[in-house]
Parts: sequence; structure tokens; C-alpha cells
Amino acid sequence: MSDTKRAQRPATQVIHAGQRPEATTGAVLPPIFTAATYVQASPGEHKGFEYTRSHNPTRYALERMVAGLEGSSVSEEEDPSCGGFAFASGLAATATLLDLLDQGSRLVAMDDLYGGTRRQFSQVRARSQGLDLEYVDMTDPDACRQALTAATRMVWVETPTNPLMKVVDLAAVVAIARETCPEALLVCDNTFASPMAQNPLALGFDLVMHSTTKYLNGHSDVVGGVVVASTLELAQRVRFLQNAVGAVMGPFDAYQTLRGIKTLALRIERHSENGQRVAEFLEAHDNVEQVYYPGLPSHPQYELAKRQMRFFGGMVSFRLAGNLDNARRFCENLRVFQLAESLGAVESLCNHPAIMTHASVPAETRQKLGISDTLVRLSVGVEDIDDLLEDLRQALAEA
Ligand SMILES: *Cc1c(COP(=O)(O)O)cnc(C)c1O
Repeated sequence: MSDTKRAQRPATQVIHAGQRPEATTGAVLPPIFTAATYVQASPGEHKGFEYTRSHNPTRYALERMVAGLEGSSVSEEEDPSCGGFAFASGLAATATLLDLLDQGSRLVAMDDLYGGTRRQFSQVRARSQGLDLEYVDMTDPDACRQALTAATRMVWVETPTNPLMKVVDLAAVVAIARETCPEALLVCDNTFASPMAQNPLALGFDLVMHSTTKYLNGHSDVVGGVVVASTLELAQRVRFLQNAVGAVMGPFDAYQTLRGIKTLALRIERHSENGQRVAEFLEAHDNVEQVYYPGLPSHPQYELAKRQMRFFGGMVSFRLAGNLDNARRFCENLRVFQLAESLGAVESLCNHPAIMTHASVPAETRQKLGISDTLVRLSVGVEDIDDLLEDLRQALAEA
């Protein structure tokens, strides 16, 4: 299966990677195995399944799928879920990855980071695990080279970043890290791009994680996370921790997420088409000061984005002219876009990072990063583009 999964193209993989008809009935989809435990013929004699925290066939089906999409080198003969591991949430996946590190380890992370990730690093693990944290703008190779000292044990990258859509040169980070801190585990949070747009493992990263809550599931109805390990050695370490720490994804959520992934290729195409149109519309609008979208030639890393990403996706951030009141009025007047946290689902959403998703980031840090009161982040959905543009036009007029 690992051989055929490599040969297939992404739009085929999202339907077939790691999947097969169910053995006893031939059902084309995996059943939702709800059993917490599995019978044994004699003590220790079982079919590879003992207890659902450790092994669940429905979760395995999802894990093999995402491992296939991200191109793990681990085969099913080596590991039953091909190096993919599903968790109760994106942050649960993150927490388990941090458990790969010893007490007091140095972790260097991208400065513009999902607010909850930063909160877990700075407000939980800095205390409970004594992490030595440094946040650095990894779009700047010199800053990156300085921060990645020999003591660094983990490098955490997000690209494009949330909410400012900075694009990090993943191959460049790998090259620097291999030279300056060869022992460090390189992790990419690939939530914003999705595996349709980029595959960090192919560029030399060790681990990739997703909040499956976003594009992978894509329908705003499951919270979950996943990790894919590049090698068998890492897969075994993550498998141990997934079971030992226990923040696993339940079988219903795994089934639902697997179902969502089947349309990932179709969705990302439409998200990207709509995202591009929205970004261009906003850039041409008088009440908009700046637009952040990797598919715009005005984006500072446009050339890099074109090289690194197959799709630019549906995330568009922009700065409105005026002040907090204008931004508030814009958000309140949207009708098709809904004002809500989260992203990456079929419906278009609007978020005010300073008040909503990034409220946990200290005000001073927000200021430094450019998360101002007039910054608005859109998750452009798959609706008819004309309805989306009309909605934005009228809300900008009201703002
Ligand atoms: C949402 C998100 C997370 C956290 O995932 P949850 O499923 O909400 O726990 C991590 N990284 C990014 C980029 C996200 O957007």
C-alpha cells in the first residue's frame, strides 16, 4: 500500500491513501469501531488490537490517510498507521510533540504563531517543562541562523503564518538547522497550507502537525489534530507517547475527519480561487490599507510562495483604514461571512485577531508583530465568489 500511495496524485490520494475495503463485509468505508477493548483468545494472544487508546482501526484508517498525504516514508508493514497519529485536538498533538523533549530543552519557534500554540509554549511548558523558548522571525535567514544554536532541540515553524501570512522558506530552515543544530527535531505546523499546498517532510522536516479541525476536516464539526513522522524511528517515539500520554482522537471524530478529507482536493482548489479573488478585490479597495495573501505579487515572499506552495489557499488578512470602531463595524455588518473563530471550513468566516484568536498573546507582542486593532482575518470559504465579494463590498461601505 505504501508503494501505490506514493505513486498516486494528491486528488486520488485524498480518497484512497491507506484505505481498503473492510475485511469481513467488503464495505467500502471503514466502520466506526467504538469498542474500548478487544477479546483475546489466550492471555496476550490477540489480533493486534488490545485497547482503543493504543489501537483503533477507525483511527488507523485516518492516520494512514494523513501519513500518505504528507508522504511519510513509513510503510504499513513497519507501523500499523504508517507514521500518522491522531489526537483529540491540534493542541493535544502539539503537547505530545513537546513530550519528545527533555526538561529544559531549547525550542526555537516562529514569532508569528497560532495564539494557542504560543500560549501552550509560553504559559504552560515554559513552567512545567522548563522550556528555553525563543521566538524568531524565520523569514529572516540571519535571525534564524542566530537563534538556532547547537543547544536547540526543536524548531517549530508555521507557514503561512497566522494571522500575517508570512511565508517561511522551509528548505532554507532545514539547511540552516542541519548545519547549526543537527540534533534538533524540525516540526512544521502545516494547518494553514494543508497537504494539498505543501509537504514539509519532502523538504527535510522531521515531523508535520495539523489541527484537523481546519482544512483537513473542513466542515467545522470536529476538533482534532494529527502528527506525521518522517521516519520509523520517530514514528515509534510518537506512537509510544500517543499511547502513554493518551490524548487520542475518538473513533467517531476519526471517521468524520476521514470523510471530510475526501473532498480536500476539490475544496482547496475552490478556497484558493476564491481567496485570490478576495485578496485582489480588497487590494483594489480604497478603505483597505494592506492585504496579506501569498498569491499577491505585493506579498514580500511572493516568489518563494510560488516556488513552495501548489495552492495559496483561502486565508486572507487585511488592514482596514481607520480604527477599532471601523473594524468592529465591518465585522458586525458581514452577512455571508460569519464572525467566528476557526478557519479552513466550507463556510466563509471572519475573525478579529486582536480581540478573538490572538487575545492570549500579550498586547505588547501583538503590537510588535503587527496584530493591530484594524487587522481582520478572513477564512474564505467555497461559496459563490460573487456573493462573497458583494458581502465584502457592502460591509466595507458600512465600516
Ligand atoms: C487551530 C490551530 C491550532 C490548534 O488546533 P486545535 O484543533 O484548535 O487544538 C494549531 N495551529 C494552527 C495553525 C491552528 O490554526
